[in-house]
This record gives sequence, C-alpha cells and structure tokens, in this order.
Amino acid sequence: METISYEYGDALYVNLTNRCDCACIFCLRNNGHKGSIYADDLWLEHEPSREEALKDLLSRDLSRYTELVFCGFGEPTYRIDDLLWLVDELKKAVPHLPPVRINTNGHANLIHGRDVTPGLAGRIDVLSISLNGSTPEEYVAVTRPREGAKAWDAMLDFTRSAAQYVPTVMMTIVNKDKTPEEIEACRRMCERLGATLRVREYIPD
Ligand code: SF4
Repeated sequence: METISYEYGDALYVNLTNRCDCACIFCLRNNGHKGSIYADDLWLEHEPSREEALKDLLSRDLSRYTELVFCGFGEPTYRIDDLLWLVDELKKAVPHLPPVRINTNGHANLIHGRDVTPGLAGRIDVLSISLNGSTPEEYVAVTRPREGAKAWDAMLDFTRSAAQYVPTVMMTIVNKDKTPEEIEACRRMCERLGATLRVREYIPD
C-alpha cells in the first residue's frame, strides 16, 4: 500500500517522490528499501499525480496538524511545481492550513536548471535544508551527490536565495563526529546565508 501522507508527531508528512540526486550513506533508499516497514510503506511504485495527492490530503482534517511537511523518501523538490500547486489548492480549500515546511537537500535549482526560490514566497513557511557536512569534501563523502562538489555550492546558493522568500530557513546537521569548532563554523556559515543552524542528536539504529 503506497503512502502519500502519514502522521508523525503532531504533523502531517507528504511523500510525493522517491527520486533523489544524492545517495547519502545513511539513507534507507540506498541500504535497500526492503525489510523496513517504514521504507516499504513509503516506496512509491508510481508517483501520485498532483490530483491524487490533493485528494489524499483533502480527505484529512488538515486544521488539526501543527505542520504540513513535504518530506518522504526522496527529494521533494523534484516535484516543486506540483508541490507549489498543491499548496495553492490547499490554501484555497482549507481555511486554517497549518504552516508548510519542505525538508530538502537544497538541490532544487541544480535539479531544474533554474531558480525556483521566488515561487516559494507566500507558500512555504519553513525550509529545512540538510547541511550534512562542514566542508565540501565531507559533504560529498556523506551525501554522494550525482554532480559531486557542484552540489555543495548549489545547496549554499539555494539557501541564500530561499532566505529572501521563506520566513524560516534552517540548516540541519547531526552532531555525530562533529567537534564544537566544526559546529560553530557551520553556525557562522548558516548565518551568512540567512539561515539558522539546527543541530540534531545522532540516534543510533
Ligand atoms: S538527500 Fe534525503 S532522500 Fe536523498 S539520498 Fe540523502 S537522505 Fe536519502
């Protein structure tokens, strides 16, 4: 059974695609998606059309969630046009739509070959961008992007542009194997880009 949306905590998560231009060493997509209930449920044999996704979302009482999060088991911005269309339709249909967040690797402009960030204005409230490393070398080693080190620059440029249009832009990093100096360097870099660093606790399997 394919899952387009699912509850986690008080939020509703939306899963539109399994495509991604990265192969992060920690991602279940690359560790074989079979064998994990979570992964099996989120593995889409076909991507839902935007109409199918809208129908799924409107079947829920959206006003009871604290947040609507485009995330899932792939990079949601592969479908940025459908995602923004969905937000527009939901805003028209739901009087009290909760804040909308995208969890992303920040490669949208690289993937699409254009600056998609102006389209986020007035639609996306929060962006959470995976930083995953304090240097380009570490980033590439951990996330293994198709375009190599170019993806690091693209992710930073995307963050800087998006910060002009999205009220809250966070970059996330896991504290495992990070010295306080490295975390501080990440924090300064985020601030220069107009984002806030969020340090997540490492949770072992
Ligand atoms: S960016 Fe996200 S979906 Fe893509 S490989 Fe990394 S963890 Fe997985």
